[in-house]
Amino acid sequence: MNCLSFRRQLMVDPQQWDDALAAHAEQCPACARARERALGFEAALYAALLLEGDVAGADDAAAADAGGDDDDQAPPARTVHPFGRR
Ligand SMILES: [Zn+2]
Repeated sequence: MNCLSFRRQLMVDPQQWDDALAAHAEQCPACARARERALGFEAALYAALLLEGDVAGADDAAAADAGGDDDDQAPPARTVHPFGRR
């Protein structure tokens, strides 16, 4: 595997990791750092999506409070993992 194929795979799916990718990252610090950046970006994106879900849930809670019955709050908005795995 070379840097180009490593970076291509990183762009397709940063979560995927196999022996060929690991072997390249071990001998190529630049690609290893690129993977760390990609995973950091994915984590930040995922956290932002979760935070957005929390804000929507807060709006629902405020609406429920306006109704006067605190015991019947709607469940929080369902969050779906954007990458389909973990
Ligand atoms: Zn490389």
